Amino acid sequence: MKTAQRIQGLPPYLFAEIDKKIAKAKAAGIDVINLGIGDPDQPTPPHIVEALQEAVNDPATHRYPVYQGMPAFRQSVASWYNRHKGVALDPDSEIVALIGSKEGLANISQCYVDSGDYNLVPDPGYPVYSIGTMLAGGEVYRMPLLQQNGFLPDLDSIPTEIAQNAKLMFLNYPNNPTGAVAPRSFYEDVVAFARQYDVVICHDAAYSEVAFDNYRPVTFLEIEGAKDVGIEFHSLSKTYNMTGWRLGWAAGNQIVIEALARIKSNVDSGVFSAVQQAGITALEGPQDCIFAMQKLYAERRDVVVEGLHELGWDLERPKAAIYVWAPAPEGCTAQEFAAHVLEKAGVVVTPGIGYGQYGEGYFRISLCVEKEQLITCFRRLKDAGIRYS
Ligand SMILES: *Cc1c(COP(=O)(O)O)cnc(C)c1O
Repeated sequence: MKTAQRIQGLPPYLFAEIDKKIAKAKAAGIDVINLGIGDPDQPTPPHIVEALQEAVNDPATHRYPVYQGMPAFRQSVASWYNRHKGVALDPDSEIVALIGSKEGLANISQCYVDSGDYNLVPDPGYPVYSIGTMLAGGEVYRMPLLQQNGFLPDLDSIPTEIAQNAKLMFLNYPNNPTGAVAPRSFYEDVVAFARQYDVVICHDAAYSEVAFDNYRPVTFLEIEGAKDVGIEFHSLSKTYNMTGWRLGWAAGNQIVIEALARIKSNVDSGVFSAVQQAGITALEGPQDCIFAMQKLYAERRDVVVEGLHELGWDLERPKAAIYVWAPAPEGCTAQEFAAHVLEKAGVVVTPGIGYGQYGEGYFRISLCVEKEQLITCFRRLKDAGIRYS
């Protein structure tokens, strides 16, 4: 039973290797604290859970949903954009519901990429951008996210021949894994680039509401002309601790949205209507759960950044997202460092290479564990003599 080439080309799941090491450490009696998982540890706010319970009692939700998403859900997304971002969207033609944004991020390449076409993909980055490209038979051009550029891609360094043959550009700010944010001027350059080379912009805004210290991330769709050149992917996963529910959306250019909806209508049958109903409650209900979420992550971030400072790291406090991205100490790869930290302190960090070749030399700490656990981690690192220099 020989699998297809495209399956053979898929890298082993990043965390599979780490999971093996964790299992081994646990078997050896080490108490492991996992700072590798980017999945909110807090439950979904109760009023959203209740909305699902109520919706599921209505037999109308038991039938196939509307492919593009319930009109009421799309309307609620449009109102949300209007209220929070000052962006006007037509719910009928400019929004499609997704089974989590990852689904749309994978499927969008099927809409635009033919064999040999390029997609411009941030590196390090969320793996689905490059995987989706490869599954569609396309080529990945890696845009390095370098610290000296604030972890933004340098658009001027993209070779002209590549830009001319590129179909999509993936972007993601606030960024996983680097925690970087993008200024308005960057998005303006992106819109100009997209116009010049006829590239569709796919902005992944999964962390747009996860921001700290009164910082408010700019979203791509807020930029003038953005709707002419691309779409934005959004998700309830991080904003409302709903990763398991699988609900997101794409919004923006109507031609791109129509293409994505067309592919989807041929391979899936949409999001469970009761989940969409709960999504409406999330978007339109009380938003104080967001402030609580932001406060919680900001406190954890401070523990991590201060802990790293104390061990000799020099880094800034990320303004958004749920990660701290830090360089491995001189003289060891991030993988060696991660293995050392697991063995000596029972702490799991993710080596940056898992997010692409330009992630080498870095590791990622996720803020999805309790503050007390984080404090314990740093006490252990200190006791184990682990330092940056
Ligand atoms: C968590 C995350 C998402 C959200 O994915 P869903 O499929 O909506 O759960 C999207 N992009 C990035 C970069 C993420 O880290």
